[in-house]
Amino acid sequence: MPGTSPGKKDPMIDSQFKENKLGELYYYTIPSFTETGLVKHGFSSRLGGVSQGEVASLNLGFKRKDSADNVKKNFQIICQALGIETRQMVFSDQVHKDRVALVDETDSGKGFDRPSDIRGCDGLITNRPGLALVTFYADCVPLYFLDPRQRAIGLAHSGWRSTLAEIGKKTLLAMQEYFATDPSDCLVGIGPSIGQCCFEVDRPVAELFTTNYPKYQAELVKKKAEKYHIDLWSLIRLQLINAGIREENITLASTCTACNNKVFFSHRADKGKTGSLAAFLMLV
Ligand SMILES: [Zn+2]
Repeated sequence: MPGTSPGKKDPMIDSQFKENKLGELYYYTIPSFTETGLVKHGFSSRLGGVSQGEVASLNLGFKRKDSADNVKKNFQIICQALGIETRQMVFSDQVHKDRVALVDETDSGKGFDRPSDIRGCDGLITNRPGLALVTFYADCVPLYFLDPRQRAIGLAHSGWRSTLAEIGKKTLLAMQEYFATDPSDCLVGIGPSIGQCCFEVDRPVAELFTTNYPKYQAELVKKKAEKYHIDLWSLIRLQLINAGIREENITLASTCTACNNKVFFSHRADKGKTGSLAAFLMLV
């Protein structure tokens, strides 16, 4: 792992995600997804791109302090590594809510080569091969879904608001509705994102969690001085298991983007001056 200071624990040691290195480029994959042979997928790091300054170097956000040319070059780099063509991508338009959009081949290129009419959606689902779902991150939690039986996929951006709104469960419900997905067949990946170590909030936000999950508040919300630390990973895991996902089918990255902001863009650790990571998932 590059960029970690001596003596600091390697963030991927306890991770169930796989670290992949290609020259300067680092990206992360979910072994159970790879084993199916049904998808191309990955989660980017901030390493291996062409951008400079606060968005150095693999910035994948067009809305960041970066040129569109650099962002396009960065997409070429990561897509080539993942075996995805940039024209196959469709972007979400994330608003920290719980809506999920069903997309198909008519949506390919939206957000990248042409304007998108997909608005207000934090989740994307499809059963069409050759369409790469793409969602964006800088601390929020990426959720990957693969139904190997019905050959369908989903990606969801689960920040704290969307986590309270149970976007993971809503993505599964949409897959059930459109693809007859049985959650007990599904594989799920919970990607690199802000951990309980760094996700510090004030009391009003903490209370939203303790009110909604009174039974689990001791584990999910830890008080440190006057602040509260929320465990989004455990909460999402709990929500997914309650929605019918088998515990053994969940792969957890257990990697905090804020602790490791030399490897990942982190809104919190970089105080808003940062770039954008992306999650990619495509049926082959
Ligand atoms: Zn941390």
